Amino acid sequence: MRKKVIAGNWKMNNDLQASENLIVELKNLLLNNKANCEVIICPPFTSLSEASKLIDGSEIKLGAQNMHFEDSGAFTGEVSSSMLKSAGCEFVIIGHSERRHIFGETDEMINKKIKKALSAGLKPIFCIGELLAERDNGTTNDVIKRQTLNGLDGISVDQIKNIIIAYEPVWAIGTGKTATPSQAQEVHSFVRSLISDKYGKKTAENVIIQYGGSVKPDNAKELLSQNDIDGALVGGACLKADSFMGIIILA
Ligand code: PEP
Repeated sequence: MRKKVIAGNWKMNNDLQASENLIVELKNLLLNNKANCEVIICPPFTSLSEASKLIDGSEIKLGAQNMHFEDSGAFTGEVSSSMLKSAGCEFVIIGHSERRHIFGETDEMINKKIKKALSAGLKPIFCIGELLAERDNGTTNDVIKRQTLNGLDGISVDQIKNIIIAYEPVWAIGTGKTATPSQAQEVHSFVRSLISDKYGKKTAENVIIQYGGSVKPDNAKELLSQNDIDGALVGGACLKADSFMGIIILA
């Protein structure tokens, strides 16, 4: 039985004060409504240290939104895995579609980031997902297979246990369009079959595969009730404590 994981990707939102306010509100809501799932927040880099202090003693866990695959050096503007660890992160989102499509991240870079994150003791939330044109021309499974297998190239059966996969159809991110529960389930089941082929059935049954793409309290229940959907990676709806909580209580 897989425990569901609900993660909030704050993206480039919330300065320090707004981050503190959101965390305090969420903590208060969680005191009154015990979550049956794992809860992760991924604030911007500038709020991570403060967030780490604020969540101490609560059930909220901390993740970052990105990292570089090198340890240190002349990479202006970048942040390393050990910096994230020392800021209190347990998780890191890797290969989000905005990183792939706006910042040009390739499968190869994403694979290097996953390896570096794991070696630093961070758990990657590894994002995959097809574009609308790819869905329309019937190549969704090809894209998902390529992204999954390239991203996991050289990752061992022990390491995959520390990776969460997030299926996020790009056409559903921030657009208000959600994949139907059956469209999402179909891809999740395909991803689990890829994991099964590579790592064995037992391992595949334990891998967490989140769905992401305009998840909100009013569509989360049906999505989260699908066999292979083990949680959600939430963007817009995690920026308000009550709507994020509205998803958490459904998991
Ligand atoms: C995301 O950023 O990963 C995401 C799924 O965003 P939204 O929920 O806003 O579509």
